[in-house]
Amino acid sequence: MNLAIKHDDISAAAARLHGVAHRTPVATSHTANERTGAELFFKCENLQRMGAFKFRGAYNSLSQFTPEQRRAGVVTFSSGNHAQAIALSARLLGMPAIIVMPSDAPQMKIEATQGYGAEVQLFDRYTEDREAIGRKLAGERGMTLIPPFDHPHVMAGQGTAALELIEDVGALDVLLVCVGGGGLISGCAVAAKHALPRCRVIGVEPEAGNDVQQSFRRGEIVHINVPKTIADGAQTQAPGRFTFPVIQALVDDVLTVSDAQLVSTMRFFAERMKMVVEPTGCLAAAAALEGGLDVRGKRVGVILSGGNIDVARYAALLGHR
Ligand SMILES: *Cc1c(COP(=O)(O)O)cnc(C)c1O
Repeated sequence: MNLAIKHDDISAAAARLHGVAHRTPVATSHTANERTGAELFFKCENLQRMGAFKFRGAYNSLSQFTPEQRRAGVVTFSSGNHAQAIALSARLLGMPAIIVMPSDAPQMKIEATQGYGAEVQLFDRYTEDREAIGRKLAGERGMTLIPPFDHPHVMAGQGTAALELIEDVGALDVLLVCVGGGGLISGCAVAAKHALPRCRVIGVEPEAGNDVQQSFRRGEIVHINVPKTIADGAQTQAPGRFTFPVIQALVDDVLTVSDAQLVSTMRFFAERMKMVVEPTGCLAAAAALEGGLDVRGKRVGVILSGGNIDVARYAALLGHR
């Protein structure tokens, strides 16, 4: 089996991130445990630097650039959190960054990215190809392209979230991870299966954007149209050529949840746990809390992947009953 990353890559990433990324807390809730009949351990990446786990993969990638790569800088395309993660990592490492972002990305994410000192270039996500734009910029300016999920250094960085969770809470029967293009789950699956070979690793996608579930079931990469869902961090069209083989080899199942279930889960975190978790960040938790997955009697790790949401939009989503 020749996968893009192995466990050593995740340990090496953890060493690079030590003292730079937050070691995020693990939260628990009696109410969540009662509701599910399980013991849930929430890994709070909504409290990570820049508000999502994406800082892990971005910093792990940029900190491995050669001096020449650092001088020319980094370019990437992203619907938001990866953009901020690259922008912040580039600033910490003192290199230029250009971020290609969809023009309908949340304003807060665009401004936060600019706030970290990166140059933002907008494009129309329904008519233009973001990868082509990113590659062209890389070619013209000699910058290095770091994509949001399909890169071994990104995947290894993201896996440190599961590594820390397991170090902190010990054995788990199930690990629930949200899935966009599969960077987070591929890293987390390598970390989890190394430490706990019998732990089931389950991915959770938005119902409207189940490209990874379809690919997983079909045994080959399936492309879908840009999905319309409130989970803006999981609006991917296909898993990657590096992430998909890892998912095929190590992930046990891929489930979906609806936008309505994401909203009730967001409300649960706000009311019961006093935490802001963005819609995409609620995917994994929704599978357990909304009854889609039977976890009774199990110890369950749940990655809360991010907390970046415009306050007005957050209020509007929570206002609907
Ligand atoms: C990017 C992102 C995801 C999906 O991660 P992938 O590595 O693309 O699978 C999930 N949640 C949040 C908050 C994200 O920013």
